Amino acid sequence: MLQVKHVTFGYSKTKILKNISFNVSAGENLSVIGKSGSGKSTLLKLLYGEYDVDEGHILWEDTEILGPKHNLVIGYDFMKYVAQEFDLMPFITVEENVGKYLSRFQPEKKEQRTNELIKIVELEAFAKTKVKNLSGGQKQRVALARALAKAPKILLLDEPFSHIDNFKKQSLRRNIFNYLKSKNIACIVATHEKQDVLGFSDQMLVLHQSKIIARDTPAVLYENPKLPLIASFFGEYNIIASKIYYAHELKIVQESKLKAIVKCTYFNGKNWLIEASFNSQSIFIEHVEALAIDSEIRFAVSKR
Ligand code: ADP
Ligand code: MG
Repeated sequence: MLQVKHVTFGYSKTKILKNISFNVSAGENLSVIGKSGSGKSTLLKLLYGEYDVDEGHILWEDTEILGPKHNLVIGYDFMKYVAQEFDLMPFITVEENVGKYLSRFQPEKKEQRTNELIKIVELEAFAKTKVKNLSGGQKQRVALARALAKAPKILLLDEPFSHIDNFKKQSLRRNIFNYLKSKNIACIVATHEKQDVLGFSDQMLVLHQSKIIARDTPAVLYENPKLPLIASFFGEYNIIASKIYYAHELKIVQESKLKAIVKCTYFNGKNWLIEASFNSQSIFIEHVEALAIDSEIRFAVSKR
């Protein structure tokens, strides 16, 4: 289990993280969300021992994670970290990068393991390609495979699919997260994409203004977002009579006291998102068809 106890940290006097505490069990998938600059990457770097905490402790089982002041070599065998800026060896091939930390004294085993990892990140066709000739998304996949090579107990992923195109993203997410679950590898994923969280994370932690403002399962936070910040992570939302409603929780109806004027419509695949003006504020309603601009609509609110 990873234990984070009362961690406080700042690069200078200003504290980026204040009194942060949480645990992650073996095999658990925890996502860390928060606006850009909220300290997600900083938190992962602290967990990896890249910096010294100002206060508090970080432990994996009985090992205290120490920063560079107390630990000459950054990193531990049981923990791997894939940074937002992944650093690979550009002049060697994908398979050489992936197998870099595997023992060369067992070449057959090394080859087998390397192939297995390359398959997980769907890079079979590029195994012999030099990394410098890959796209950003392909490099990110190499970095993921390399981090998995020596089967860590915990994996820290910083926006792991940010460079990967939508064609590949879904299958890659499933491959990686299912693989981690099957091997009981814990992971902490810093992300601003709900698709990284919904369906994969056991717990979700929200960072805001240096603190953890919420921590629960994605389902609980989705169903009952206590704050606009949390709702906005999941989709368009409205505040009506001081309550938060997602766009799909407003319904266009024949009879209602709630009236609005259509301002814009956006096709979103399954439905249309209607932007309308209500009491001089913009509201968003999911609807099955587009509506004429400037037409009057009536709507009702309903929580499922
Ligand atoms: P996030 O990953 O959530 O976008 P970061 O952890 O990267 O946020 O950054 C949190 C805050 O710390 C930001 O205000 C950022 O400017 C600052 N910061 C990040 N890295 C450094 C650094 N190496 N030195 C000084 N300040 C930094
Ligand atoms: Mg970041």
